[in-house]
Amino acid sequence: MKGLYARIAIACIGIASGVLIISAVTFIIGTHYHLTMYQQQAQDMNITSPAFDTHLEQALVQSVFWTAILGIVLAIVISLFVAKRITSPLIEMKAVAERMAKGELTSRTEVTGRDEIADLGNSLNYLAEQLMLQEQLRKTMTADVAHELRTPIATLKSHMAAMIEGVWDPTPRRLESCYEEIERLRFLVGDLEQLTEVESPNFKLKLKEENIGAVVQHHIEAIQAAYERKGVRLSFRNEANIQASIDKLRFGQIIANLLSNALKFTPQGEKVAVEIKEQSETFSISVSDSGIGIDEKELPFIFERFYRADKSRDRKSGGSGIGLTIVKKLVEAHGGAIDIQSRVGEGTTFEFRLPKTR
Ligand code: ADP
Repeated sequence: MKGLYARIAIACIGIASGVLIISAVTFIIGTHYHLTMYQQQAQDMNITSPAFDTHLEQALVQSVFWTAILGIVLAIVISLFVAKRITSPLIEMKAVAERMAKGELTSRTEVTGRDEIADLGNSLNYLAEQLMLQEQLRKTMTADVAHELRTPIATLKSHMAAMIEGVWDPTPRRLESCYEEIERLRFLVGDLEQLTEVESPNFKLKLKEENIGAVVQHHIEAIQAAYERKGVRLSFRNEANIQASIDKLRFGQIIANLLSNALKFTPQGEKVAVEIKEQSETFSISVSDSGIGIDEKELPFIFERFYRADKSRDRKSGGSGIGLTIVKKLVEAHGGAIDIQSRVGEGTTFEFRLPKTR
């Protein structure tokens, strides 16, 4: 039985019992007093008259009446006291909620005890913290997006202005450079759309039993031509025949993202290896490249949105720094976890592990 429930039950039982006990005691004392008086006077005066009996009856009715009044007054006083004790924290919480609705997210309610009202107070404080966090995220996100948009827009503007004013001839090379900036913006918008989707509270996977090897193979074949064009060797090793419950489309996004990153950051002549391994209740997929690697200091931030290990290098390579954030969210949505190991100049391995059944 939780605190508040018990307190209200005990208070009701206490009020009812208290009123009954006091009423009974008062009534017994009153009756006893009047009866003793009656007997004494009847003895002294040696009389038994109906008028005298009526007088006793009136006295008894009066004592019942005053007992009832006393009981009611007592019940009102105790009930008001209990009601105040229960409602005052609720009134304070209402005031805090109203202040929060007006944007004062630092408002907190004071929590005492460990009953349901204390739980409600804790939930309200937790809600305020979450709202503050979301507000902070919204501000950071807006600032990050603005920052990402600023460079391509500024480049486009200066190129266009130079061509319009006749300072620059619109050569194919210059038009191509403008086109690249527009492409960068298009990718950024696409990545942002995907990120918003996977971060939405309504985001749900469409899980179905699939052959993992076949899905990975499909994505390897899709990107193979790009690898060949750059001269990077791509190998695939799958010794397990795993059937698992995944969202094929989202799972494909994870593989495609890791494969395209590996290609982007691996120089010509180097190699990328994909491997599927089976554990008793999970399976893991690793994508290892012998590319440029990531500095140890950068590794803790690599899954953060808009994070690029080497800002100038990756802006040129066209990445928005959102890909790995989406990858991590999708792995976690599948009930798994992703790990990274990297050494500058030696290469990088991304490995994610998912449960076979969900
Ligand atoms: P982007 O779109 O910039 O590739 P990601 O979120 O996919 O964004 O990656 C974030 C950053 O992590 C990249 O900009 C790059 O610096 C680093 N990175 C990701 N994968 C690799 C890799 N295989 N090798 C080296 N660096 C990588």
